[in-house]
Amino acid sequence: VEAEHDTVNLAEAWLTAEESRDTLKREPDYTASVLQTAGSLVMVCDRHGKVVRFNQACELVSGYAFEEVKGRNFWDRLVPRDQLDASRAAFLSRGPADFPHVSERPWQGRDGRRRQVRWTATALLSGDGELDYIVYTGTDVTERAALERLKDEFLGVVSHELRTPLTSIRGALGLLSGGMLGEVSPKGQRMLEIASLSADRLARLVNDLLDVERLESGHLALDYQACDAIALMEQAVATVQGMAAESNVTVEVDPLEAPLVADPDRVIQVLTNLLGNAVKFSPPGGRVWLRAERLPEGLLFEVRDQGRGIPDDKLELVFDRFQQVDASDSREKGGTGLGLAICRGLVAQHGGRIWAENGLERGAVFRFVLPGAGVGRVPAVVDSQAAPCPPSAS
Ligand code: ADP
Repeated sequence: VEAEHDTVNLAEAWLTAEESRDTLKREPDYTASVLQTAGSLVMVCDRHGKVVRFNQACELVSGYAFEEVKGRNFWDRLVPRDQLDASRAAFLSRGPADFPHVSERPWQGRDGRRRQVRWTATALLSGDGELDYIVYTGTDVTERAALERLKDEFLGVVSHELRTPLTSIRGALGLLSGGMLGEVSPKGQRMLEIASLSADRLARLVNDLLDVERLESGHLALDYQACDAIALMEQAVATVQGMAAESNVTVEVDPLEAPLVADPDRVIQVLTNLLGNAVKFSPPGGRVWLRAERLPEGLLFEVRDQGRGIPDDKLELVFDRFQQVDASDSREKGGTGLGLAICRGLVAQHGGRIWAENGLERGAVFRFVLPGAGVGRVPAVVDSQAAPCPPSAS
């Protein structure tokens, strides 16, 4: 058995719990020393949450010695009081299938200071496939989390402050080019048009940044209303029609009458964004399709194009902030890489999900599902934090 173990690759060695346990028993001292002195936090708990290993990094970050937490539930000392129930419940609700998983949680040190820790939890299973031990490896991300928050706040303040002067600039440009303040020479008119286009683009960017910040900080409240899919689809198509005509792209909509409870402006924003991208990445003469469908889990919207599609390894990545498939995209196609991040945030805020696929032949397909389709009732009180999704059809 010994010899076999040596040749087995690591992934396989993790496979059977019996082997894992045997390995632990045979663990040479140096493996223990490596874990003990590693820069990452390493904590091992049994299936009841009792701490059986707690390395030096854990001691350093928490201020507790191993002896002080050994044999106790980890939440007794390490989890802030206000998180205790949630932490215990989350731990106890996990089964073998829930591993590995990654989570970010606060730790409370001996001195009362909170540290934000990013954990990866993996499971050691017993011979009959039950949880035996849970191995947590973690990194203290307190400073990074604080910086992220600061950056988001900064983004919010700056975008907000930019909005007011921008509004007056756009207003003034509108008055000038409308001839309200006297005749403008043809050359001046062209300058005004360029200035207006740039101001519009800046306004879009500022609005996108504000949306991103609000979504990240949980401050974007949805205005739920009873609406109908057909109206949302038609309005979104009307918004991109001009741009589509300019690029010689046809947008076809297969309208579906289906009531839903959602924030109509935000759903139109998502649809417009997806349609705008589809048009942007379509070849001249190409077609873009918008359709919807009732599913048991909610209402599905689909935007499909005949463009270059998205590489398989980027299908998830494009939903991240400032992510573009090609570095030249923003130069050649315009855009900031914020649109899909906002779409994902808005759909998630509705309690739905959004994803991208590649078409069978070519082109990209974007789909999102909103729950609560077919519900004809507007919730009386809707708090975006407490009730991220409208009541679902029963
Ligand atoms: P933006 O379009 O402003 O750059 P998005 O977040 O909307 O930002 O899109 C991110 C990136 O995803 C785009 O830059 C592009 O690389 C890719 N993408 C989005 N939609 C499509 C599509 N329909 N076809 C091909 N690529 C797409």
